[in-house]
Amino acid sequence: MAGNRTFTMIKPDAFEAGNSGAILKMIEEAGFKIVAMKATRLTPELAGKFYAVHSERPFYADLCKYMSSGPIVAAILEKDNAVEDFRTLIGATNPANAAEGTIRKIFAKSIEANAVHGSDSDENAAIEGSFFFNQYERVI
Ligand code: ATP
Ligand code: MG
Repeated sequence: MAGNRTFTMIKPDAFEAGNSGAILKMIEEAGFKIVAMKATRLTPELAGKFYAVHSERPFYADLCKYMSSGPIVAAILEKDNAVEDFRTLIGATNPANAAEGTIRKIFAKSIEANAVHGSDSDENAAIEGSFFFNQYERVI
């Protein structure tokens, strides 16, 4: 059965461009409830840990550098079928392939600087949420 939580980050390009508010508005209007949220900044080491699944990929070093290049917003979101519905809302990894009206189509600058992260499974949503928030911060 599909879970009801996912995890997202507003990535450094979107944060720097001042698009956090507009992106959060789209997320809320799509029916997601924010149950935990903070602005923070990853070190290169933490970015490497977060994206460890990609450590063998050619873009990994650049990705760690980019994800630690400035502040981000990290959030846990709640909605029925959260993981799949959020991936639909954000669109394809490469904004050139993202559907019209998706967050990446509107805000992403490139395949790397693609505005937002969205968990790819219920299991990873739980792992990624715990990466940023401890049980005492998840008060809602
Ligand atoms: P995310 O996990 O951030 O939600 P995704 O699931 O759509 O994105 P992944 O394949 O998990 O895509 O890649 C993780 C991130 O690595 C991408 O969002 C992007 O920032 C970067 N990335 C992916 N593919 C490339 C690439 N070919 N070149 C440069 N960066 C890439
Ligand atoms: Mg991914």
